[in-house]
Amino acid sequence: MSRGRKAKWMIKIAKERIDILFNLAEKEFNEHPERSHRYVKLARNISTKYNIKMPLKWKRRFCKNCHKFLKVSANCYVRLSKGKVHLKCLECGHVMRIPYLKEKKEKRSTKIESYLVQKKSNE
Ligand SMILES: [Zn+2]
Repeated sequence: MSRGRKAKWMIKIAKERIDILFNLAEKEFNEHPERSHRYVKLARNISTKYNIKMPLKWKRRFCKNCHKFLKVSANCYVRLSKGKVHLKCLECGHVMRIPYLKEKKEKRSTKIESYLVQKKSNE
């Protein structure tokens, strides 16, 4: 497969696969947590290969440090402080600090805009 830009349909399929993998990870976690961690790994492979950002829905469901699937009250805990969500991975002890959704959404849209502008100028 060629490097660089991927066809739209490929990206669509890749996104669907990421979603499927995370759904599986969620389903399997109670009985086979090691499978869930593997699904996260596969989803991450897809996202890097196709340059796709992790969907917001699943972004917080794995550890940024050890990349394991996180399930609240099973292997991670959530705490709110100073307008941020603290997510602690109990697999490796890594803490992720995430601003509240509203701020995040605004930030995200500006980020995406600047990214698109940058991309265009590179082409
Ligand atoms: Zn971790």
